[in-house]
Amino acid sequence: MAQSANQISTRAVILKTTDFGDTDRYLTLLSPDLGLIEVLAKGVRSLKGKRRQPSDFLTLADFELFYYRGRYRLNQSRLVYAFLPLRLDLVRLACAAHLAELIGDLTTDTEQAAAVYELFLRFCYALEKNQQSPLLYVHAAEIRLMQLAGFGPDWQHCIYCQHLLAPSEGARFSFPQMGLLCASHAGGKASLLQRKLPQAGRERLQPGSYDGQSLTAADLRALRYFSEAPLPALFNFQADTAVKTDLDQFLPAYLSWNLDKQYHHLDMLDKLDLSSFNDSQ
Ligand SMILES: [Zn+2]
Repeated sequence: MAQSANQISTRAVILKTTDFGDTDRYLTLLSPDLGLIEVLAKGVRSLKGKRRQPSDFLTLADFELFYYRGRYRLNQSRLVYAFLPLRLDLVRLACAAHLAELIGDLTTDTEQAAAVYELFLRFCYALEKNQQSPLLYVHAAEIRLMQLAGFGPDWQHCIYCQHLLAPSEGARFSFPQMGLLCASHAGGKASLLQRKLPQAGRERLQPGSYDGQSLTAADLRALRYFSEAPLPALFNFQADTAVKTDLDQFLPAYLSWNLDKQYHHLDMLDKLDLSSFNDSQ
């Protein structure tokens, strides 16, 4: 980031666009230096003229911004990479939009901005390479993002007895308690839940509600990898269909219990036939 008076230059990716007026647009940028910022981009949607600039969702560009009284305004943007293959594919575009929404919901403090920025770009490149189901990339990015935002649970120990889970051991994840329970403590006894449960979790725990999920040793290996792997290697993994099926069920519940929100960008994937995606592709 270069800065002189009120001029700021930064590379950033566009996470969201909101059109207004005839040719104007608000951009939500994710910058490694500035975190998430809103930028007013006047005239960028005009069909011709010098104000027309790269300003679409997912565009990676070098931005020159004018900063005044807490607001950013776009001076100029120069395209670095447009992620065209992603933007032309409905499924992968929905995956990118989902992650962008999640990043927008997790207030990114500037300390984590560089890591979140790197995570998002690596996620988009992985989606673009398209070597396995896009949803697995989504799950890896979701888990790492939650970890970076401070939501990451302990994927190694039973939260009740602190027993270190063996690599071959499965466990039950309790949503109200946001942690793993070993086989001895996964019985779901009311006394156990009452003792460890924060008030908010107790209120949401309706009888018969979806309050936990059994995870296999392979599921836990994947979750540990997603939360700990170095970012450059994060998306270099293989996961089998059983793990994908479990995580497809686990992640939406995990997100909604943590963030009290349902995410809908991925709903369309249920309606499309994704059976053609598998490990061999
Ligand atoms: Zn235990």
